[in-house]
Amino acid sequence: MYMIIDDEKLQRTLEKAASHTDAEVTDILNKAKKLKGISLEEAAVLLNITDDTLLQKLFDTAKFIKEEIYGNRIVLFAPLYISNICNNECVYCAFRRSNTKLKRHASTRDEIHQEVTELLKQGHKRILMVAGEAYPGGGLQYVYDSIKAIYETTWNGQNIRRVNVNIAPLTPEEFAELKKCGIGTFQVFQETYHKETYQKLHLAGAKADYQFRLDVMDRALQAGMNDVGIGPLLGLYDYKYEILATLEHAFHLDRTYGVGPHTISVPRIEPAEGSDFSLHPPHLPSDTDFKKIVAVLRLAVPYTGIIMSTRESPAMRNACLELGVSQISAASRVNPGGYSYDKQNGSQFTLTDDRSLAEVIDAVVDAKHMPSFCTGCYRLGRVGKDFMDMAKPGLIKKHCLPNAMFTFAEYLEDFAPAPLKAKGYALIESTAKEAFAEGSAIRKMIDDNLAKIKSGKRDLYF
Ligand code: SAM
Ligand code: SF4
Repeated sequence: MYMIIDDEKLQRTLEKAASHTDAEVTDILNKAKKLKGISLEEAAVLLNITDDTLLQKLFDTAKFIKEEIYGNRIVLFAPLYISNICNNECVYCAFRRSNTKLKRHASTRDEIHQEVTELLKQGHKRILMVAGEAYPGGGLQYVYDSIKAIYETTWNGQNIRRVNVNIAPLTPEEFAELKKCGIGTFQVFQETYHKETYQKLHLAGAKADYQFRLDVMDRALQAGMNDVGIGPLLGLYDYKYEILATLEHAFHLDRTYGVGPHTISVPRIEPAEGSDFSLHPPHLPSDTDFKKIVAVLRLAVPYTGIIMSTRESPAMRNACLELGVSQISAASRVNPGGYSYDKQNGSQFTLTDDRSLAEVIDAVVDAKHMPSFCTGCYRLGRVGKDFMDMAKPGLIKKHCLPNAMFTFAEYLEDFAPAPLKAKGYALIESTAKEAFAEGSAIRKMIDDNLAKIKSGKRDLYF
């Protein structure tokens, strides 16, 4: 058991930060621009900003940091729900055991092939595999087999290059097996870090154990998992508390293992079939507060990816691209079979952004961001601490930006309608010109690789 969350400390920190001066806020924003993060106390002050002028300054700082570290690239992925069968009782989720109206199903290996084929046909290269906590046959074998089924699916010479997973917390022995499957990031959301609230909202099943869930990333990193992803489910408890607690979790992992979380997700509760609670979540952050959350995270942990799902509207997703979000899902379905064999039944919650991948990419390009399907770091072993060591001196831009261009060029060649293809290549060209000097070795390498992709070569990265 780890002492990650000190409830009294968090409450005290928030109370103290409630009164602050404009000068204090400005000092914190200036410190954040040095790209070294900010303290828990400083994050608490920023979370308490209400003044519009200060909020705008916070947003501008987040945009500055995002551009300094990540450039204009945005990583795209699709969730793949393999099963909605679950033994737990999370009051906000349609998959909870007592929801007898929900049609339950766990995809078979063939069905997973069908689902992945559909995603490959759209142009996806990265999948987040998701499941309820009750696996056919018991034990984790179903999970390992499903990851294998995703990787082995091919369509027209294309395949999925990185599988991240969002499944229930594992034991050390299970992590050792999972590691053999070659996954990218292991994600678990704590939902709420506030223990009393957690116990009221998770009524039965293994998930009722707050501490087993809270300690999961320690077990994961000790068992040799490279990248882990955390996050609160926003709407269950006071968002200021949740964000400070998320930061405490991140700081704890960084201190203890020399590497913080690879990603932080910011899911906001959406209406879920059969869950009255999900229709009226007691602490849903407003849209302004939501943007503030993203911005504060960007300042506090500048090298941690921030993930935003299709729970959010297109307008909110576009706004957050400017505030530091670095990964977004697109064209998502949240039920087993949703992409192919059952487009109707058994969804976890209502989706807000139902645009196709091409439509999302079109909007991303219009906002001058570079869509990326890159998996280069993961496949070259630049993961965990190695990734962070590379990221911290600002190398993300140098490696990730060219790799993003290559994967986006592949997408333009293989999947994009003509207008998007023209727009996309124009963005690649202008970004290359802006970021890398004419005649430099890197510029030459980019031009060479783009020419190779146009003539049919695929999967180039460095
Ligand atoms: N069953 C596993 C678990 O709970 O950890 C993993 C998958 S669960 C399907 C993924 C996440 O969906 C949960 O961690 C929770 O944060 C989120 N979720 C559940 N109900 C939701 C709702 N009504 N709106 C938005 N997100 C929800
Ligand atoms: Fe099951 Fe996860 Fe939904 Fe809880 S959030 S009911 S554990 S699928």
